[in-house]
Amino acid sequence: MKETKYIFVTGGVTSSLGKGIISASLGKLLQARGYKVTNQKLDPYINIDPGTLNPYEHGECYVTVDGHEADLDLGHYERFLNVETSRVNNITTGRIYQNVINKERRGEFLGRTVQVIPHITDEIKRNIKQLGNTGNYDFVITEIGGTVGDIESLPYIESVRQLRWELGKNCLCIHLTYVPYVSAAKELKTKPTQHSVKLLQEEGVQPDVLVLRTEHPITPEARQKVALFCNVAPEAVIESIDVPSIYEVPVRMQAEGLDKIVLEKMDMSTDPVADMKDWEAFLNKMSNATQTVTIGLVGKYVSLPDAYISIIESLKHAAAYNERKLDLRLILSDNIKPENIEDTLAGLDGVVIAPGFGNRGIEGKITAIQYARENNIPCFGICMGMQCMVIEYARNVLGFSDANTTEIDSNTRHNVVDLMEEQKDVFNLGGSMRLGSYLCELQENWLAYKIYGKKIIKERHRHRFEFNNDYKDQFEKAGLQCSGVNPETGLVEIIEVPSRKWFLGVQFHPEYSSTVLKPHPLFVDFIKTSIK
Ligand code: GLN
Repeated sequence: MKETKYIFVTGGVTSSLGKGIISASLGKLLQARGYKVTNQKLDPYINIDPGTLNPYEHGECYVTVDGHEADLDLGHYERFLNVETSRVNNITTGRIYQNVINKERRGEFLGRTVQVIPHITDEIKRNIKQLGNTGNYDFVITEIGGTVGDIESLPYIESVRQLRWELGKNCLCIHLTYVPYVSAAKELKTKPTQHSVKLLQEEGVQPDVLVLRTEHPITPEARQKVALFCNVAPEAVIESIDVPSIYEVPVRMQAEGLDKIVLEKMDMSTDPVADMKDWEAFLNKMSNATQTVTIGLVGKYVSLPDAYISIIESLKHAAAYNERKLDLRLILSDNIKPENIEDTLAGLDGVVIAPGFGNRGIEGKITAIQYARENNIPCFGICMGMQCMVIEYARNVLGFSDANTTEIDSNTRHNVVDLMEEQKDVFNLGGSMRLGSYLCELQENWLAYKIYGKKIIKERHRHRFEFNNDYKDQFEKAGLQCSGVNPETGLVEIIEVPSRKWFLGVQFHPEYSSTVLKPHPLFVDFIKTSIK
């Protein structure tokens, strides 16, 4: 068996430089050379996983097929590489410590003092190598969250230092920094990069490659200076200039020679070059589109679009494949009232009703759904969005004016969305969330089946509440069809109103599995109908 190569991506100067995109882009380029690649993210926070984090703080919580609530960077990895990730691809300090402490309680340290070095670092290294040890990958690209110099990231950098010794040529470090432009001096400033590399060196790690994020082209002088001060060859100083779309980054990195320098440094052949034809075809579709499609995304986290990043990216993929530019309007559901709904949704070709938890903004979502249904505007409800579609139909078509989900009103007489009996006990224990991939059987005749073109599908979930099957017959008689059902449990996964142009809600999250080269069929069809 070939040995797995490990690449680490650290960040300096500031956060939000796009380590995830650079890591995913490098992964894509190596994959396009025929290698098997996986990307991993190490998050230095103490939470066990981001499932409990406020989307305002960390953006969307992504869900892997094996039901892990993960950092949103895993979404980028899947969208770029078109390869599924799992819980091993995202590790937090919380999980590292939890494993070490559990081991200590089991007496597995045989009376020794348990310390950050070697016990925590050993556990970090074990989690990194776990992916390589599967024998499935030529490259494991591990992104270290946070910024070099943070106290929290020290054990991770120390683990990288140790692995460099253990792995030799099979290990490489890329450091991503920021080069600000000081307009008063009309100059690019490399000092923050020098300092950040110095910090990394103090922690024992010499980067092999530097990627410089910048808003202006890096001059040859600046490149020379960085190379000289940071002990890096000038050709290993890579410019990463702002581009209009994250999907342009892989081809930019290819033009800058990032994959080539990585292979050279690891003593690997640089022929043949990465075949990015399919990717470029997607980019061309995206940039050649002249007409737009205007979509409203109704949700409660609109001031931070990262909270809906997978939905937004899925809409972008679908728009590109329909040869349209996406004009996305983020609409705060809290502000929607029957009095302003007409103005709020004016000019939209289609509406997406976002997922969510809790009370805030629910009535606004329901008002938007009613307007879309009555005016035959294509409407796509996701998770809580689908539940709101069910509530709206119950109130305004079935005539149950107090219909609700018991998440919002536990006393409603019409609990059209509720916890299932068997969940109620588990709910008290706190572990009731349905997470990860589940089967769904599509009922022939209806739209969902036509879109997927097959009977059995698998989609990822993240929710507690369910469509209440006690009302299924009443809904179906009144024109709302349950067109997708879990074949094992009978839980309703898709609803639609066939008398409308496109009025469909899904209990699962299709946005987690839309990728650049394989856009999700529901999004593609939703956009296609919206532009008609
Ligand atoms: N809050 C709803 C539930 O728990 C929907 C969750 C979601 O939209 N992800 O069922």
